Amino acid sequence: SPLLEVRGLTASVKETGQQILAGVDLTIREGEIHAIMGKNGSGKSTLTKVLVGHPHYEVTGGTILFKGEDLVDMEPEDRSLAGLFMSFQAPIEIPGVSNFDFLLMAVNARREKSGLPALGPLEFYSVVSPKVDALKMDPKFLDRNVNEGFSGGERKRNEILQLSVIGADLALLDEIDSGLDVDALEDVANAVNGLLTPQNSVLMITHYQRLLDLIKPSYVHIMVSRIAKYDLLPSDLTCLARCV
Ligand code: ADP
Ligand code: MG
Ligand code: MG
Repeated sequence: SPLLEVRGLTASVKETGQQILAGVDLTIREGEIHAIMGKNGSGKSTLTKVLVGHPHYEVTGGTILFKGEDLVDMEPEDRSLAGLFMSFQAPIEIPGVSNFDFLLMAVNARREKSGLPALGPLEFYSVVSPKVDALKMDPKFLDRNVNEGFSGGERKRNEILQLSVIGADLALLDEIDSGLDVDALEDVANAVNGLLTPQNSVLMITHYQRLLDLIKPSYVHIMVSRIAKYDLLPSDLTCLARCV
């Protein structure tokens, strides 16, 4: 079965009941790279948030299968432990928790699930350190609280550091290129490309061709917010959703 299979997914904002997603179909197989483009407000971020189980949204119909398992009733932590990773368009700050401790906890939670012994701080440092270097990040980063006082570019690099340390079968990358200069974008893209294997997949949201030049997608989808725009899509692009 595909890694991710979304069928007829509808979702609303929990608090207001406002419908955002109106029938999304998306299939991602192992090893594929998918890109979603589309206008601001068309529902791209909402789709990724619904996939990871963000509490602000309610799934009102359709199915999400990840590795053949129904995700809809799964807690966000369990989705993450199952191999789903999300970079947030606006990453959150976690006061009082250093980056290093955060990463170590995340890695050990996964090791525990696989029946592996926990890594100690020294052992873990030797795992993390080369990845920090590869992303051209200052090692002092590890001692700082998660995302606290980070610049936009630092946050983005940090998200990719999390991905490269924690690993994922499917990484959802929401506008990882926003606010990055050309050099930073290249570092981030190299790190993502370095993580790709025939087994794992990426879903990236972007407004810019330059990211697609660096991380080459197998499929490009356009999220559209009006059914009338369906007709305007070039034939080599697939339409993800028809929100009305
Ligand atoms: P995109 O990522 O494609 O720019 P979003 O998924 O962020 O779009 O938003 C899609 C639409 O849903 C927008 O009109 C946005 O204002 C609305 N929306 C998303 N989340 C919420 C929310 N939590 N509360 C109210 N409206 C929301
Ligand atoms: Mg947006
Ligand atoms: Mg968005």
